[in-house]
Amino acid sequence: MYQLISDLYLICRSITGDGVRKTLAILQQNIPLKINQVPTGTKVFDWTVPKEWNIKDAYVKNAKGEKVIDFQKSNLHLLNYSIPIQKKMPLSELKKHLFSLPEHPDWIPYRTSYYSENWGFCLTHRQLEALEDGEYEVYIDSSLEPGHLTYGEYYLPGESKEEVLFSCHICHPSLCNDNLSGISIVTFLAKHLSSLSLRYSYRFLFIPGTIGSITWLSLNESKTSQIKHGLIAAGLGDLGKLNYKKSRRGNAEIDKAVIHVLQHSGQDYQINDFSPYGYDERQFCSPGFNLAVGSLTRTPFGQYPEYHTSADNLDFVRADKLADSLEKYLAVVDILENNRKYLNTNPKCEPQLGKRGLYGTFGGTQNKKTKEMATLWVLNLADGNHSLLDISDRSRLEFSVIRDAANALFKGGLLELTIN
Ligand code: ZN
Repeated sequence: MYQLISDLYLICRSITGDGVRKTLAILQQNIPLKINQVPTGTKVFDWTVPKEWNIKDAYVKNAKGEKVIDFQKSNLHLLNYSIPIQKKMPLSELKKHLFSLPEHPDWIPYRTSYYSENWGFCLTHRQLEALEDGEYEVYIDSSLEPGHLTYGEYYLPGESKEEVLFSCHICHPSLCNDNLSGISIVTFLAKHLSSLSLRYSYRFLFIPGTIGSITWLSLNESKTSQIKHGLIAAGLGDLGKLNYKKSRRGNAEIDKAVIHVLQHSGQDYQINDFSPYGYDERQFCSPGFNLAVGSLTRTPFGQYPEYHTSADNLDFVRADKLADSLEKYLAVVDILENNRKYLNTNPKCEPQLGKRGLYGTFGGTQNKKTKEMATLWVLNLADGNHSLLDISDRSRLEFSVIRDAANALFKGGLLELTIN
């Protein structure tokens, strides 16, 4: 996952354009992504697909002809979506188009201007302070023309048409935690799940933030009723603890599943209520859809100083944290896949486990008592109303222990699946 982030790091992405296409082409080496192209001008609910932006080169030269700001050194130097310009101007005029971070004088900020036509440069505060009075040449070789919004989609069919959605944004240039870590986690999650036989169907979206989810929802409204659970993946490689932002529903199965995984992780974590700000859960949880989509991240966006700056680089994300994040996503999938409701076929008093060979399964191994308790909890609460996750939470036993007990009882004929 870290290698994939490194491979994608230098590409200048935006909400449209060749950077997105190049990124999706690299992801296609891992998963069979379908690339969709939506023309500029397409109406998507209250929004319109914007013009496509592409960038070749950009710089600012001083009077001596030296490049004092150079896009080739970092794609963050350019205000993303800058219109083309070639013009000479005094420093006072240039400064109106410069952005820096005085509180972090060695970092380049990341700024965009998608929906109002503008141009600008981002630079370190030290660079800004070193600019002397005089004439500067501004050169931006960009294009902003009718084209397409491009996104990637991978649909992995399972036994049921009901779906689990994983979505990440793909619109940031050289920034690692936000958003390459999300891209990498979703890619490897998809790759792993494609090797399994699955109960649910899975949909993986690689879309530009905001306009991408609005576009997808607008063009695929009929599919949304199949989405039973979903997570927005972002910010998954930093050192911080895992943070779960609940879906708008607040008590959906996805909310319970993620909270269960975090509670049993043995690690510090934080649960946050839904709020209508953040990543694309804003669109999936808008009232007209209200899908059961939460967001599992590490440190939330905006809560670390490196966020949206050049310091969110390859040193800021760590392979072990990516692995830990993926492990949590897989544990959530395991719960969703196995969280069924059963009926005890022998509900009058406890069944005699020994004669069915079920008591023996406790013997000899560690956690004998835990397994026995899991079996008793499942038998007691398998009344068709409690899911295995409900039983896990009620018994405070880890889902995998309850799942294994239920599987053994099912094989032993003491449980049957309920229809729902
Ligand atoms: Zn961002």
